[in-house]
Amino acid sequence: MPLARTRAAAIPPAAAGLLLLLLVTGVSLVGHEGSRAARVLAMLVPVFIWLRWPIVSTWWRRLRLVIVSLTLGMFVLDGVVRAYMLDRYQAVPESAMVLAAVANTTSREMTEYAQSMGNILWIGLLGSGVALCAVFALTGMSGRHQAPLSRSARWWLIGILVVCCIAFAGKHWRRYHPTIYWSTWATSVANLRANWANQEEERSQLLRNAQKANPRVTSATTSTVVLVISDSVNRDNMSLYGYGRSTTPGLTALSKELEGRWLTLPHAWSTAAGTWASLSGVFSFGQRGQGAPAGDTQHVLAIARAAGYQVWWVSNHDDIAIEQQHGMLAHSVQTINRQPGRGSASLDGDVLRPLQAALTHPAPRKLIVLHLLGAHPDYRRRAPADLNPFTADDAVDAAMARDGRPLWLRKTRLDYDTAISYHDSVVSETVRLTRQHTPANGEAAWMYISDHGQEVGHSANRAGHSAATEAGYKIPAMAWRSSKPFPATAAHRAFRADWAGWLLTDLMNIEWATMEPKRNVLADHYAWEAPHLPLDGVRFDR
Ligand SMILES: [Zn+2]
Repeated sequence: MPLARTRAAAIPPAAAGLLLLLLVTGVSLVGHEGSRAARVLAMLVPVFIWLRWPIVSTWWRRLRLVIVSLTLGMFVLDGVVRAYMLDRYQAVPESAMVLAAVANTTSREMTEYAQSMGNILWIGLLGSGVALCAVFALTGMSGRHQAPLSRSARWWLIGILVVCCIAFAGKHWRRYHPTIYWSTWATSVANLRANWANQEEERSQLLRNAQKANPRVTSATTSTVVLVISDSVNRDNMSLYGYGRSTTPGLTALSKELEGRWLTLPHAWSTAAGTWASLSGVFSFGQRGQGAPAGDTQHVLAIARAAGYQVWWVSNHDDIAIEQQHGMLAHSVQTINRQPGRGSASLDGDVLRPLQAALTHPAPRKLIVLHLLGAHPDYRRRAPADLNPFTADDAVDAAMARDGRPLWLRKTRLDYDTAISYHDSVVSETVRLTRQHTPANGEAAWMYISDHGQEVGHSANRAGHSAATEAGYKIPAMAWRSSKPFPATAAHRAFRADWAGWLLTDLMNIEWATMEPKRNVLADHYAWEAPHLPLDGVRFDR
């Protein structure tokens, strides 16, 4: 093919190398965001250095052509797949949604999916094919007839290589290399499949346990109960609980307006400082803490189902374990957030629409669980960017300064309080919607807790989840019901999150033979037992 050879030679190696660099970095930048893109580009550097290194041996040049083309081809495909997922699902491949979808998919569903994509699939395949051919051709062109490198240029390139090698020693740098990333990804999918087999068995066991307990609804009327579970909200940062900044005007107003039928539990504590362990306790009536479930463990959602409630699970978390362990016990599961980890930015207000849909469902007995991100780090992502309700020159900031809290932490507290402030608007709206949809001639109830607290310069110079300080366990807890007032004594009692199931089943009017009313904060004979926290000298009634 003399013509092709002439044309190929018409692009000088340096220009071919530059085109190749532009092509590969361009595709990678579309598929990766922010600092991740920088890491991916850094991984390309050694490949391009090798490509520029003058090699005399034809055999070595051919080997290099194959290896470099394959490597760069992988980066291109990686970028294309990621760009597609970001564009179509606003999701990264390791998000719970994508992993779950892939782990759940049969070959028939795969075919259906490909058919439903229609032209996009063919355009994507064609585009990827063209890009791969271009990578292969440009690699070949840039690898021939290279000018020798000067001595200093060689040392520079070796220096850059050493820096890259040091960077790749760190796991966070390596993990986005396509070979490492996608093999880890494939392992995650396989593990998920294996894990689900067990969880499914666990869920059926929980449903059998609930059937055996034979729970029944004691009231004859229709009923709607909404459970709001938030994340990382410290009650000390809510003005409802006496905080200096007006972070919860909505809930404060509701507590006054609905006085009597509204309950704010002043001394509420979580029994774990992390989501998974805390929610295990919340849903299992305290039977399931850090460890595995016992043979006779009950689950609130299974009990609700066995008693005849239709159950919804609406979540702004992207968390497979929580969804598998709790959410999937519901009849309907809806996950709004598709970006995993601390960086995700899906606002809790997005759960209001599915809440409204569930509230208008005709089922006579409904339990709707909302799992919010609350004030989970990163705090700035938990509220709209233009929300700035507080300034740093107030009494809260002055008190922090007196306690020796550094400036960055005081700024972080502002972000945290802003998150609580937005959270207040969402949570208040869930109350309003629940009340508005109280069934005619029936009753409605609403309950709210946070899974655990958060340390934001309350007693230490740090911000985040905190197993070692009280701030990590101080949670808000509140309830409202339409049917009758709450007993006045309840409003002074200490409360622990892993007993929340007893309050919730009371709001649902569910009873069964082996239940333990002494752990129900509304019961006459409530018998408080302090939880075992890894802290000394906690006064739980304060
Ligand atoms: Zn949490």
